Amino acid sequence: MEPDLIIQGFSNPHFSTFMDVGIQAGRIVFLSEHQPDSYSGGNIIEAHGRVLLPGFIESHIHLDKAFLLNQMKDEALTIQQAMASTLELKRTFTKEGIETRSVQVIQQAIAHGVTHMRCHVEIDPIVNLIGLEVMLELKERYQDALTLQIVAFPQEGIIKQPGTEELLRTALQHGADVVGGITYQDPDLEQHLSIVFNLAHTFNKPLDLHVDFSDDPQMLAILTIIRMTHEYGMQGRVSVGHLTSLGSLPYEQAKEICRSIADAGIHVMCLPATDLYLNGRGDDHRPRRGLTPVSLLLEQGANVIFGSNNIQNPFTPFGTADPLDTGLLLAQTAYMGSKQDVITIAQMATTRAAQALLIDDYGLKVGAYADLVLCDAFDLRSVVYERAPRRYVWKKGKLVASTVKQTTFYHENAALDERKAGSRCI
Ligand SMILES: [Zn+2]
Repeated sequence: MEPDLIIQGFSNPHFSTFMDVGIQAGRIVFLSEHQPDSYSGGNIIEAHGRVLLPGFIESHIHLDKAFLLNQMKDEALTIQQAMASTLELKRTFTKEGIETRSVQVIQQAIAHGVTHMRCHVEIDPIVNLIGLEVMLELKERYQDALTLQIVAFPQEGIIKQPGTEELLRTALQHGADVVGGITYQDPDLEQHLSIVFNLAHTFNKPLDLHVDFSDDPQMLAILTIIRMTHEYGMQGRVSVGHLTSLGSLPYEQAKEICRSIADAGIHVMCLPATDLYLNGRGDDHRPRRGLTPVSLLLEQGANVIFGSNNIQNPFTPFGTADPLDTGLLLAQTAYMGSKQDVITIAQMATTRAAQALLIDDYGLKVGAYADLVLCDAFDLRSVVYERAPRRYVWKKGKLVASTVKQTTFYHENAALDERKAGSRCI
């Protein structure tokens, strides 16, 4: 049987030659060394050496509180101010408003080659379950373009906001995929973590926690999380976002904790846009960068990935829902500039993220779903450093977005320059 789609002559850092890939009924059915002129008819895309990657995974994002800048009264300069400002705005949230802002992010993400996304939706007595209802509807509406995982997230704490535990339970009964938690809201950390680990155990769901978002080296909830991950047998099913206080610890102490994180199979999600923006504010000179120690975690064998976290709100007044924007920011601020580092950055937005989000049938391999992105660049460095246009994005073999970027020069040498550079469009 003829494949539905063949992408031929692409490059990828994991293959030493140009490759061809065939797609049938939404899955990759062959992957072989490039054979020029060996296919005819059907739907053939000529990559001409451009880079093909598995669809990007947005591992950590808040759709429900994206695009709030125009509603803010004052700029938020600290984590506490960002939380207070968002809480104030949250009191005015409506289903329609959440939907409009979420759709804007989802459309941007799809255009940027995102085929999977994990969003944290706020669950508490202030918004009740309206955010969840919107996310469940969007999950179904966009399923042909993007797989949405929903984290039931108690942003305001569980003990501080009575009724939240019951709402989390209801959210999990009604389709939330992941149990969320936060270590810097409730006064009793042990109690908060016991509640969320118990919920994860009861509903057989993974855990995704906001952890130690500070540059105070005393804030080490991660130690309790490591212990509980072993006690509940949840190795490989726990993710932690931020984990920035670890970056303020002396090297030897941090190294030991990084080793324990790796041993517990805990995935670390670095959120550089937010972490760089809000941490280090209390340092009156030589401010800390406020990132989790990415290289040390990787060295010790932990899985580290990254996420956008917020798009244009009090926590992060930036963002375009492009994983390559965040990847480049991380490369620039975590000392990741080598050839191997750029491969690691790309893995963090693809295969490493799939491992953290427990996504099966993923990747550039036979049998996986054909969630793919063809980047308009000829090597991985250009993909990341130039945030190359995503020429084509496929979800299960179906084209869901395409982007062409073209500049026309009118200066004196324009004609000559254009002939030398050649057209980048396909
Ligand atoms: Zn977050």
